[in-house]
Amino acid sequence: KEKLKDDALLKKSLSISKKNWNKEDFSWSKDLKKALKDVFKIDKLRELQLPTINSVMSNEDVILIMPTGGGKSLCYQLPAVISKGITIVVSPLLSLMEDQLYGLQKHNVKARMLSAKCDKENVKIIMNALIDKKSDLKLIYVTPEYMAKSNRFMNKLQKAFEMKRLDRFAIDEVHCCSQWGHDFRPDYKFLGILKSMFPGVPILGLTATAPAKIIVDVQKMLDIQGCLVLRATFNRPNLYYEVRRKPTDKDTCLAMIENLLKNRFKDKSGIIYTTTIKDAEQLTTDLRALGLKVGCYHAMLEADYRSEVYSKWISGKYQAVVATIAFGLGIDKADVRFVIHHCISKSMENFYQESGRAGRDGKKSVSIVLYRLLDIFKLSTMVFQDKVGLQNLYKMLAYCLDQTSCRRSLIATHFEEVWTRTDCAEMCDHCRKPKESKQVNIAPYCRQLYQIMTKAVQSETRLTALKLIDAWYGKGASTLRVSSIPVPKFTRESGESVIGHLLVNGYLQEDFHFSAYSTISYLKRGPKSALALDNNHEILFNYELH
Ligand code: ADP
Ligand code: MG
Ligand code: ZN
Repeated sequence: KEKLKDDALLKKSLSISKKNWNKEDFSWSKDLKKALKDVFKIDKLRELQLPTINSVMSNEDVILIMPTGGGKSLCYQLPAVISKGITIVVSPLLSLMEDQLYGLQKHNVKARMLSAKCDKENVKIIMNALIDKKSDLKLIYVTPEYMAKSNRFMNKLQKAFEMKRLDRFAIDEVHCCSQWGHDFRPDYKFLGILKSMFPGVPILGLTATAPAKIIVDVQKMLDIQGCLVLRATFNRPNLYYEVRRKPTDKDTCLAMIENLLKNRFKDKSGIIYTTTIKDAEQLTTDLRALGLKVGCYHAMLEADYRSEVYSKWISGKYQAVVATIAFGLGIDKADVRFVIHHCISKSMENFYQESGRAGRDGKKSVSIVLYRLLDIFKLSTMVFQDKVGLQNLYKMLAYCLDQTSCRRSLIATHFEEVWTRTDCAEMCDHCRKPKESKQVNIAPYCRQLYQIMTKAVQSETRLTALKLIDAWYGKGASTLRVSSIPVPKFTRESGESVIGHLLVNGYLQEDFHFSAYSTISYLKRGPKSALALDNNHEILFNYELH
C-alpha cells in the first residue's frame, strides 16, 4: 500500500516535470543571463541548471538530484542574486558553508553564515538584515542545528516572511532528512515545520543521493509530497572502472601500487584513498621509500600542513595524495587521472563520489579498487551502528565480488538508472575483457563453515573472519579446526570471496562486540542459515574459484 502511494507521488512529480522549464522567455530570463555572465563569469549553464533555476524562480518546490561537482549550488545562488529578498541556505557542515562564502565573496555576492560559532556582532548584522528592506544581503547560510535551537532566528524569519522578504529555502545535502540515507542527521527533522510555518515559501532540496525510496521519504519529511524532482544522469562516460584483488602480502601490494604510479600513471595526477589515518601515514611512508612523490592528507593534520600538501599536489610537485576521505571537500583539480582505493569505500555513494573526483575535465581517467575481504571488517565496525550502514557496505562488497557484470551497470543500478554495456563502451574491466560466467554452488562450503562455527561455540570461542578462514584452511589454533573438513582446493583469496558472498546474502552475519579499546566483528550464522542447512539448498555464486 505504502509502495502504491509512493508511485502515485512520483507520477505526480513526473507530470509537473513535463512543463517546459527550459524556456528562455520567463520574466527573469534576461536578468538571469546577465547575472550569470557579469556576476558568476559563467558562459553556459550545465545540464538541468536552467530548468532548476526556472522552476525555483516560479516558486515550485523542487528536489534536484545531481552528482557531486555537477553544479547544484548555482541553482540557488543565481536565483538569490536576481531576487529582491533573502535566500536561506541550510547546510550540514561549516566547512561547506565556508567554501561557498569564500566563492561568493570573490563574485561580490553578499552572503553570511550563521552557526553556533558566530560572534555576536555577526549575528546582529544577520538578524537585522532579515527585516531590513534596504539590506543587500542575498544569502544566509545556516546549520539545521542552529535553526532548531535559535528561537530568535526563527522569530526573525517569521518577520521577514510577513514582510515578504523570505524568498526561498535551499536545503543542501537534503538526503540527510531521510533515515534511509547514508548520512541521516536528526537535526534535519526540524526542517519539517518550514512548509507549515512559511506557507508559499518554496523549498529547493539538493542532493547527490538518488534512490526513489529516499527521495520520497525526504518529500514526506519536508511536507512537499509530489514536488518536482529533477534528476541528472550519474553516468561518467570518461571514467574507467576496475577492481583488483588486493594482495595479502603488504610488499606485493606496495609493488602493485608502485608499478601503477611509475608506469600506467607516470606523470599523471591522482588520489589514493585509505580507511584510517594510520593507513594513510604508513602508505605514504612506504611509497616515499620507493622514491614516489606523494603527500599525506587526513583530518588530524594541521590546517597549514594540509593546505601545503594540497598545493603541492595541485602544482604537480606531488604525483598523488594518500588520504582518508577527509580529502574531498572543495577539491578543485580538473585533471585528476586516477583514484585508487587502497581499501574499499563504505558505500556505493561514497565510492561514486570518491572515484568521481577523477576526470572532471571529461578526459579519460581511471578508478581502481583494491579489494580484500578482511578490509571489510575495519569498515563494518565503523558503520554498523548506522541504520543502513552494513547494508550499504555489503553493496560495495558485492560490487567488488562481481566477476562478470559491467561495473558501470552495477553503479547504474545503485542510482536507479539503466546503463547497458553499450553505454559503457568498454570502459570497465569486465567489458574490456569479458569472462565467461561460471556458477558454482557454494552451499557445501557454507555448511562446512557452520561446522567450524559450531565447534568454536562449543569451546566458547568467537571467530573473527581471519580465525574462521584460518581454521578452514587448516591454519591457526588447532582447537578451532575440524579434522573432517578438507582444506579447500582453491586459494585463500577465493575462500575469502566465498565468505564475502555468504555475508552479502545473509548466510553469515557479523556479530559485534565491544572490547576496552575497540569494536570487534565476529562471524556467526546468518538469518538464512536454516535454508543453507538443507542439503538440497543451493547457493549459487558467479565466481571462478581457483
Ligand atoms: P555540487 O554542489 O553539485 O557538488 P558545486 O555547486 O559545488 O557542485 O559546483 C562545482 C563546481 O562547478 C564549482 O566550482 C562551480 O563553480 C562550477 N560550476 C557550476 N556550474 C557551472 C557552469 N555552468 N559552468 C562552469 N562551472 C560551473
Ligand atoms: Mg554541493
Ligand atoms: Zn562495462
